[in-house]
Amino acid sequence: MSAGRAAPAPQAPAIVSTATPRTPEADASAAPTWERLALASGLPRLEARVLLGHASGRRREWLVAHGDEPAEARAAVAFAELARRRRDGEPIAYLTGSREFLGRDFEVSPSVLIPRPETELLVQAVLDRALPGARVLDLGTGSGAIAISLACERADLYVVATDRSPEALAVARRNAQRLAGQALAGARLLWRAGSWWDALDAQDRFDLVASNPPYIGAGDPHLAQGDLRYEPQQALVAGGGGLDALREIVAGAPRHLRPAGWLLLEHGCDQDGALRALLAGAGFESIQTLRDVSGLPRVTLGRMPE
Ligand code: GLN
Repeated sequence: MSAGRAAPAPQAPAIVSTATPRTPEADASAAPTWERLALASGLPRLEARVLLGHASGRRREWLVAHGDEPAEARAAVAFAELARRRRDGEPIAYLTGSREFLGRDFEVSPSVLIPRPETELLVQAVLDRALPGARVLDLGTGSGAIAISLACERADLYVVATDRSPEALAVARRNAQRLAGQALAGARLLWRAGSWWDALDAQDRFDLVASNPPYIGAGDPHLAQGDLRYEPQQALVAGGGGLDALREIVAGAPRHLRPAGWLLLEHGCDQDGALRALLAGAGFESIQTLRDVSGLPRVTLGRMPE
């Protein structure tokens, strides 16, 4: 996009290539431009720019400003391969190895769920309720997006994060090292390996527990669409129509929450009624459901009695 610049005369490229001796520079000027590569990829413009940026090491703003210049050959080759994989359906985040969440870039790999904007609501709901110095638990942390965002946003919190997948914990640790090194050094951010509550000691107690567990039912048609096809099934799919992990978390929460402690759970947009009933059955009070950026019921929370 060269808004504000005079459009080149239509015949200009032909004149250059016939009138100029074949120097390396002349060859380079015959190469497709960045913009041409993006267009020819058949990908939506923004996706093409993100992948071009990854292939070339250039910022997207730079690619926009220099779109009518010849692309570097090495970047063009790398981009062609990325574009092919994207056309086959691989998620952009796995191709670039990162995804932004609450303003920070998280490393992601196919062993972790790609952080989603609706989960930012869960983090915000924790921040809104965390008193100074609160102990917070993130069950099934994946890339670490929830736990690390909390530790970065609030230097007073003590955050523990669990995952049963060693590969996921390795990704989360690298993200923490890069984004929240100070919290790690101050032991405000700790990792525990294991499935849900099994990752903790019996006497561990928290003021807030948050989780974005798997909540999609096996056989849900969404699993055969888009990014979900490439994401770890154990981070997406739960038995019992998608409710088993949520049930297990609710059942164990009273043993690990302090009096007046909060449990906050992300869930599917048709699971809020079931979640509220589960929380009420486990003795929670002040139960409510929050809506996500798309206006869908997405996070349900409840509080232990004083
Ligand atoms: N929100 C994700 C989706 O529907 C699912 C994440 C999860 O199961 N925790 O794409």
